[in-house]
Amino acid sequence: MMAPNHLQDLSKSLCESARKGNLSQSILFVGREGAGKFALVMDLARTLLCENDRSACGQCQSCRQVSRFLYPDFLLLFPFPNIKPESKKHTIFHFSDPVTSAARFSEETRDAVEEFRHKKLSDPFYLPNYEKREIIPVEVVRDLIGSLAKKPLEGGRRVVGILNVEKMAFGAADLFLKTVEEPPQNTHLLLTTSRPDLLYPTLLSRTQRIKVPLMPEEAVFSLLKERLGLDDAVTTYLARLGHGSPGSAICLYENELLERREKVLGIFMKLLARDPIGQIIADIEALYGGFKSKYDDIKLDFQIIETIIHDLFFVGENGLDNHLVNFDIKDKFQKIKPPPGEILDIWNEVCAETRRACGINNVAPDAGMMFFYISCAEALAGAGRPKYTLP
Ligand SMILES: [Zn+2]
Repeated sequence: MMAPNHLQDLSKSLCESARKGNLSQSILFVGREGAGKFALVMDLARTLLCENDRSACGQCQSCRQVSRFLYPDFLLLFPFPNIKPESKKHTIFHFSDPVTSAARFSEETRDAVEEFRHKKLSDPFYLPNYEKREIIPVEVVRDLIGSLAKKPLEGGRRVVGILNVEKMAFGAADLFLKTVEEPPQNTHLLLTTSRPDLLYPTLLSRTQRIKVPLMPEEAVFSLLKERLGLDDAVTTYLARLGHGSPGSAICLYENELLERREKVLGIFMKLLARDPIGQIIADIEALYGGFKSKYDDIKLDFQIIETIIHDLFFVGENGLDNHLVNFDIKDKFQKIKPPPGEILDIWNEVCAETRRACGINNVAPDAGMMFFYISCAEALAGAGRPKYTLP
């Protein structure tokens, strides 16, 4: 595996520094999920650990083992869902001592972790879609730190890769800070995150932050075309929604994005048609009433709503219809007479406000969506900005 085209220059310059011994000991790759950060971690791990003059030769034992996650001095950690936590049987990372480790998980968790490794090996953009929230538990971090206290097993150098480091459990992040502050000798830390805002300031200040660029839309398009084999219009929609991240586009598509958009758009059309609010509320109850206050369930719907509002700004403007995110259903948008820009601005604000309230303050999805649509309908009727706000 090599870094994808849009990351090759970055990968080359980092690997060059690694060869010369100039690489910072702790690196934090910051970029969108599914945009290729993992490929950079792998390129650097291979370079740092290669037995042939750090050339990432691909031939030596280390290169071959790193690429299959089998090299003992390449410690790769990532978040995973703790499925059936009551069944504590297996250690799931090779740095956990099979006899003494307290980091034990069910067979189901072990399978999920193995599947992640397997998929990530063949596709650096792969993003899992777990039903349960994934975290990096404290027990695993304790094992990792314990194994770093020992000497490297093979070559004298060691690489620790931690993906989505912001998903460390509270205690785990505290524990790990000490390692970031004073990394053991000959040990490189390669961390990734899409949410640097969730990290401790100490972690940010002790690592070299490297911004990972987005993949250009045409490149995402080609990759999706090859992987999913869908028609050009739908592929364009996915590429635009993925916004520089083929991984998230694929994950959304596999998560029944198109069906979901159909449902969300159905409610939205009623809003645009100024249907009675009672009907909209009934639809919201049908779509969101069954949820038990989980923001993750409606994150996608907010994304869809944002693209709808975005497209309403553009539709009908001369020649801008080709810029619609919902490119594959632009004929549907062309039939709509979009509300004036001031109204769309309010809708945008209400959308951001609702998203924040549901995401941060756990406002229930159905309550949040009702607030959103009622506020939008009132704004459309000339009432201006909503008089109430969500917690
Ligand atoms: Zn090698």
